[in-house]
Amino acid sequence: MPEMNISKKLSRWSLEDAREVGHVLVIRCGLCNITRRFLPGDILKLRKNTTLNRLKFVCQKCDKGTYIDVNVYYPSAGDIGKLPIRRLAGIRDVRMPIWRDETL
Ligand SMILES: [Zn+2]
Repeated sequence: MPEMNISKKLSRWSLEDAREVGHVLVIRCGLCNITRRFLPGDILKLRKNTTLNRLKFVCQKCDKGTYIDVNVYYPSAGDIGKLPIRRLAGIRDVRMPIWRDETL
């Protein structure tokens, strides 16, 4: 169902499904009114496959996830070379110390 647009269907549509048909993920923050598009294959490099309604995005401007709206878009031939996409440029591994309290 490449032309799928109804958010209810996102609960039955996974990242893998979207990648296979060539869907683009459209992530919009209603607070900042910013829309960014991602390739499902890039998201799959960061996390395991899941249905689209379970994706948790945080707006990179306001740092909130509350106003995020997830949708899919099926690009047309006219989008090639024109549609802005945010691609995964790299993954930074951050070393985080983990502390525990003990006795001497
Ligand atoms: Zn925002």
